[in-house]
Amino acid sequence: MSSGTQRAALAADGLPPLRSVVERDGLLARKSLGQHFLFDLNLTGRIAAAAGELSAGTTIEVGPGPGGLTRALLSHGARAVVAVERDRRFLSALDEIAGRYPGRLAVLEADALDVDAHAIGEAPRRIVANLPYNVGTRLLLEWLARPEAFESVTVMLQKEVVERIVAAPGSEAYGRLAVAAQWRWNPRRLFEVPASAFVPPPRVASAVVRMAPRAAPLAPAEPATLERVVAAAFGQRRKMLRSALRSLGEDPVPRLLAAGIDGDRRAETLSIEEFCALARAYAG
Ligand code: SAM
Repeated sequence: MSSGTQRAALAADGLPPLRSVVERDGLLARKSLGQHFLFDLNLTGRIAAAAGELSAGTTIEVGPGPGGLTRALLSHGARAVVAVERDRRFLSALDEIAGRYPGRLAVLEADALDVDAHAIGEAPRRIVANLPYNVGTRLLLEWLARPEAFESVTVMLQKEVVERIVAAPGSEAYGRLAVAAQWRWNPRRLFEVPASAFVPPPRVASAVVRMAPRAAPLAPAEPATLERVVAAAFGQRRKMLRSALRSLGEDPVPRLLAAGIDGDRRAETLSIEEFCALARAYAG
């Protein structure tokens, strides 16, 4: 093969096309690790662009797999990417990418659930990931608990989870996740991605959401108390609050009165500010 033909076989970033990397390294997707790969460079480029400015601080990617999104982040100018991957079969493909972008990609072979993302690399830190869906919500809740640690979180998740993140009071999708995501963050649903865009395709459609921390929470509350109250309220979402909140171990009526909230209401009708008032009444 002439060097001209070899060059033509490479992708725009000078690396082999992802499909051939996956074939070359025998990277069959593992369902148990939520492996669904993106080969479409337009799509990975769109996600990288949605993450915003990447030229300062650290971009943390969870689950780089064969590196489609990693490559997009680097070609969009990410100064430093730290990619956390649990499956060591991808390390050789990721090493190849690191060689193409000297000093800009570090790979951490680890379970992301064991990693303190807020301590990785230098600030400002941002998360960008096509998340493994089996642990996506858990990871997201950990990051959402640390708004001071991240400049933004831009992630692909199941469409249904993104709907729960951005849900407004009164809707079926409004619940614990909406309160956790909106109290101190401003989540924006960006675009939908059909299952057919992944190899292999998952059962459900996906969507990309970007969250940036708010300058101040929507209302004051102590995080653990807010979480407790919201969990109890939505734990029995069809019940009136004066009954659902009994699971907190005391008569909820005086607390509801103190918060100025009618005990006949149901959890899904409360705004986040009202949940905060309730949390303050429980803390008081
Ligand atoms: N970023 C790649 C892409 O967009 O094509 C792959 C995304 S795939 C949906 C999820 C990736 O997360 C897989 O590479 C999988 O091995 C990895 N993964 C799954 N569970 C993980 C965990 N607990 N910690 C770190 N990585 C994990």
